[in-house]
Amino acid sequence: TRLIEFKNVNKEYKSGDYILKAMDNVNFTIDEGEFVVILGPSGAGKSTLLNLLGGLDSVSSGEIIVNGSHIESFDDDQLTNYRARNVGFVFQFYNLIPNLTALENIELMKDVVDFDINGLAVLDAVGLKDHADHFPAQLSGGEQQRVSIARAIAKRPSMLLCDEPTGALDSKTGALILALLQDMCEKLNTTVVIVTHNAILSEAANKVIRIKNGQIESVIVNEMPKKVS
Ligand code: ADP
Ligand code: ADP
Repeated sequence: TRLIEFKNVNKEYKSGDYILKAMDNVNFTIDEGEFVVILGPSGAGKSTLLNLLGGLDSVSSGEIIVNGSHIESFDDDQLTNYRARNVGFVFQFYNLIPNLTALENIELMKDVVDFDINGLAVLDAVGLKDHADHFPAQLSGGEQQRVSIARAIAKRPSMLLCDEPTGALDSKTGALILALLQDMCEKLNTTVVIVTHNAILSEAANKVIRIKNGQIESVIVNEMPKKVS
């Protein structure tokens, strides 16, 4: 079933009397449980797209429909609620809170959901139960990204939005993180959307959406994505 639809989405940034079109009539759909890679060079509009989908920024015109709701017409309270319930964010540089342990970083999410979170169980799911009491600085980059994925899935979001999730990692560690995201997508039936400039990630995807200059160049469905390990 359909989870996400972008319909004629435009996003303009104004600087002085110059208008930059960061999203130029963008249309695409994503189904529940899909593993999607949005691929494009720097400046293509990838972060803009992710911010719009994640309810962090608003469109200039067009529609964004998620689970049947028009999020482009949400007010601030509705957007806060939407982000809390639907969206798990994963960033290139992890964005963990440095003075909290791995477990505490995950348990923070208790404040945004209305069910109980078993932080240790979630850490176990990403293979880091033994590191519950470690602070971010005591963890490798790959481990920090695992904690940030655990934090994101703890909310049981309908989608994981990942901005260059392997961008700060060496290729071996990057592959392990990609494998973990693929695993989560399959096991939890969570829709995963990754934006990246790194074409190697697209091997793992069910759907690859290429963007350039704020426009969709192509949408390719891959029935047999590579199982990363
Ligand atoms: P990507 O993530 O693919 O590198 P972005 O979505 O960050 O691309 O940016 C797309 C375009 O929009 C770029 O030309 C960028 O300079 C511009 N842009 C992004 N954010 C802003 C902003 N807040 N104000 C003005 N221009 C912006
Ligand atoms: P090989 O040379 O055998 O392809 P790699 O470790 O380079 O070994 O890649 C194995 C797989 O891991 C790739 O096909 C790709 O799916 C994934 N991968 C490699 N590098 C990265 C990276 N930087 N980020 C994410 N995934 C990666």
